[in-house]
Amino acid sequence: MDKISYLRQEFQENYESVPDFIFFAPGRVNLIGEHIDYNGGLVFPCALTVGTYLAIKLREDTTIRMRSLNFNNELETPLTELNKTNEWFDYPIGVLKALEKEGIEASGMDMLYYGTIPNGSGLSSSASIEVVTAYALNAIAQKGINTVDLVKLSQKVENEFIGVNCGIMDQFAVGMGKENHAIALNCDTLEYDYVPLATDEYILLIGNTKVQRKLADSKYNERLGECREALRIAQKTFKVNHLCELSLEQLESVAADFENKMVYRRARHVVTEQERVVKAIKLLKANDLAGFGKLMNASHDSLRDDYEVTGEALDTMVAEGRKIEGVLGSRMTGAGFGGCTVTLLHKDSVQEFIDKVGKHYKEKLQTQPEFYAVGVGNGVMEIKN
Ligand code: ADP
Ligand code: MG
Repeated sequence: MDKISYLRQEFQENYESVPDFIFFAPGRVNLIGEHIDYNGGLVFPCALTVGTYLAIKLREDTTIRMRSLNFNNELETPLTELNKTNEWFDYPIGVLKALEKEGIEASGMDMLYYGTIPNGSGLSSSASIEVVTAYALNAIAQKGINTVDLVKLSQKVENEFIGVNCGIMDQFAVGMGKENHAIALNCDTLEYDYVPLATDEYILLIGNTKVQRKLADSKYNERLGECREALRIAQKTFKVNHLCELSLEQLESVAADFENKMVYRRARHVVTEQERVVKAIKLLKANDLAGFGKLMNASHDSLRDDYEVTGEALDTMVAEGRKIEGVLGSRMTGAGFGGCTVTLLHKDSVQEFIDKVGKHYKEKLQTQPEFYAVGVGNGVMEIKN
């Protein structure tokens, strides 16, 4: 049964009625450009074909009912009493409250979510559930808020209501993704450009290490501080506002000013990663997937050696993956210390990859990884009958 029929059937079973509307928002993966969004850099994510579905039926009264096929609990509350629950409901509740501030009052409704993204593994199921909710409520109320503003509102919800200090990339890719295209996005100015990612023979394979990203939060803040320090040192010589404005040549010319070599290496990751993103965009525009894959490899190596945010699980999966014939490139994606890898490989190599990498990884890490072959899909949308 396809996903939509399944959702309709579940809606019928849960609420004994037929939904008025169905919406979908994808998950996302960042192809290259890691840990540079907060250094004024260009990132290069794409939306996936997995994501979050939301079916809604409007009610005559002012009761909100929320359920998810991914969780067992349910919420039933009057609209006037939406409060923080410290459960998954907080994502939609945060969005409802933020929209209310914008003058969009929801009516009573029955809501059913169904996610096909593994939660908590760095493919941004959180941005997906926020954006699908914001888009749905705006569409139903016919308020005409544009998608980029809904993206910003969703990020604000994640920052302020959920309390997760994420940048704009996730919500932007989820909201603005385009089938078979990656998005070159400047996280500062929100200027963006779609770049064709035509992969008839080659596909993206996500590898989930199933290792919790425990260190990710504390190390994220540590790296943020190190980048600030590096910027201060560079600014003694160069007029720049962000590390990403420096060329490698410029950074190398002031290497002696860095007493702390670790801070220098952090800056070197940022500067070389930015150069890789620019090259990657050019290569993809020329449909040079092999060249793009090499940059993915170089990105991972820089994150491992200079930025030090990979760890044994990600390094093992990437190293084993690169041994498989047909793999053009493989790297960690997301904050690091666990979560997922992304690999560009020939579609005929997928099964061998899953078997061999899965076996070696399990032997070494004592954890069974998961793999998902994903397509590059569109951003948030309404699914019409
Ligand atoms: P990630 O964004 O990397 O998947 P997060 O921890 O940021 O991980 O977000 C995951 C959380 O988002 C889940 O624990 C849940 O609270 C919420 N969530 C995501 N998708 C769904 C869904 N389909 N149904 C209910 N809650 C969801
Ligand atoms: Mg998230």
